[in-house]
Amino acid sequence: MSFSDLILLHAPSVYDFRGQSILYGPVSDLVPSTPVFEMYPIGFTTIAEYLERHGLQVRIVNLAVRMLEDCKFDVERQIAKLDAALFGIDLHWLPHAHGSIEVARLVKRLHPRTPVVFGGFSSTYFHMDLIRRPEVDFVMRGDSTEGPTLELTRYVTSGGAAHPAPGSVEAKKLAAIPNLVWRDAENNPHVNPLTYSPENLDDILLDYSYVLKAVVRYRDLASFIPFRAWMKYPITAALSVRGCRYNCTTCGGSACAFAKLHGRKKPAFRRPEDLANDIRRIGRFSRGPIFLLGDIRQAGDEYADRFLDAIAGYKKPVFLELFDATPPGFFKKVARALPNFTLEISLESHDDEVRRMFGRPYTTAEIERSIDDALDAGCQRLDLFFMTGLRGQTYESVMGTVDYSGRLLARYAAQGETRVIPFISPLAPFVDPGSRVFEEPEKYGYHLFCRTLEEHRQALLAPSWKYVLNYETEWMNRDQIVASTYEAGRRMNLLKAKYGIIDSDVAEATDKRIAKAVALSKEIDLVVALDDPEVRHARLRALKPEVDCANLSTVCDKRELEVPLTHTGVNLVQAAHVVVQEWVKGLSRAVDRSDQPAESVKV
Ligand code: SF4
Repeated sequence: MSFSDLILLHAPSVYDFRGQSILYGPVSDLVPSTPVFEMYPIGFTTIAEYLERHGLQVRIVNLAVRMLEDCKFDVERQIAKLDAALFGIDLHWLPHAHGSIEVARLVKRLHPRTPVVFGGFSSTYFHMDLIRRPEVDFVMRGDSTEGPTLELTRYVTSGGAAHPAPGSVEAKKLAAIPNLVWRDAENNPHVNPLTYSPENLDDILLDYSYVLKAVVRYRDLASFIPFRAWMKYPITAALSVRGCRYNCTTCGGSACAFAKLHGRKKPAFRRPEDLANDIRRIGRFSRGPIFLLGDIRQAGDEYADRFLDAIAGYKKPVFLELFDATPPGFFKKVARALPNFTLEISLESHDDEVRRMFGRPYTTAEIERSIDDALDAGCQRLDLFFMTGLRGQTYESVMGTVDYSGRLLARYAAQGETRVIPFISPLAPFVDPGSRVFEEPEKYGYHLFCRTLEEHRQALLAPSWKYVLNYETEWMNRDQIVASTYEAGRRMNLLKAKYGIIDSDVAEATDKRIAKAVALSKEIDLVVALDDPEVRHARLRALKPEVDCANLSTVCDKRELEVPLTHTGVNLVQAAHVVVQEWVKGLSRAVDRSDQPAESVKV
């Protein structure tokens, strides 16, 4: 197996999910992943591209997808075959608290001499918990780690020790790498200052042609696939920003969380022209939609205008996020530039006060004006997202949100309009570490059941999502959050069928799945109450086949989130063309640099 300077491993949420009986509930209904959260973070791609650009070889191995795709996939065998100078594991989203640590343990057992580095938002938050674990050698803090990861990989590939003697030359080298957390030979942890925090995203490149090239190099398409259904529906992300101007109370990507965790005072934006180029580059090999992360209006009107000018004429589907109400005329400009756009709006609740307390700055009336503008301008589809588990939100309030959705759908149906699609899902499984609620739960009316990394790891093994939730609120306990989510999902599903948003057979199947999930949830409650752990275990094992069937598309059919594609998602001929072009470019770079002896050049 060929050697890599760095191998990035992505674990499933719960490592042994194939053997565990866990009712995950609707935690992933509204994202492309399954409940094991097999999608690797976008940072894998930017780190890999950055290191490759600097002459190193990086491989991505999505263990979670491999395990989902093949029930006999042998993780240990796969890891044993890998050969790298450094293994990187993401603990970005906290739901990976179990799987990431288990995979690190495996790596340490199978490659005891190869160091392991953790990175991501949750790693940053829990860096001290992680660095004390024997299976973790380094933690990279921060929202941007491309530069420091390059330095660390170079240090390791040049033979630097993972845990050098205090005061040694190697210890000084490690101490000079920004954002790095490390241990010396006497087990003392060192937390380097978080000084690598670029003010913009000019130096990163979300260039998936790296992925295409690496797939060919390692002859391993299966390990690079970002999530299970990607080949059929290759929705691909483009990144406009790291950071956010808003402060939604439970969000680990909010302005407060970025300041606390990453020392980021203001968002780092991608230059609008570069963002447009990123999208066009993806469009060269993918016919699937692009999901543009971050509201293009966040950096101001001039930014949005420059982006729309630069992307004008791009005809493939693009999903845009909206974080605030828009001025009149905005969507006409969007539609001129991106005729195939879909809009994603998180309303959270129908109740202005609940939404305001969550941190969203707009009223229902304001956003309804924006919705109408978008529809008039020719928006292909408009997804409205509501949430359960919010501050100030009772069971009745959740049902009020469904009633509001019904009124909205009735109004649009009267105009023959079916492009507005509401969804409801729980705030689950965790309130994000670093968010305002996580830091001061009582102030916001929350009670947290887990605080530490280990508590979250253990919670992930609970037999149903009710027990995994790391919170309850003054207004709803965990039983009520679960009950209101299922009931709201059930009613929303019926409304969508009533107003012609989904077919009746799809609605019927979803209704049955919700009923089954509710029944299973109650049955698991009874099992959990049993005294004898062996009987408990046996009863849960017996439920596993039913639980597995109820784990996908609980409160809605996942496919409701998809826009129709005219052709197969990935254009393989074009992808091959991109690979060849990149190879030629790499070759010319290698020739150009062949006069520079210090740099190792790899194509
Ligand atoms: S949820 Fe709110 S704070 Fe978090 S990224 Fe979205 S707009 Fe920003």
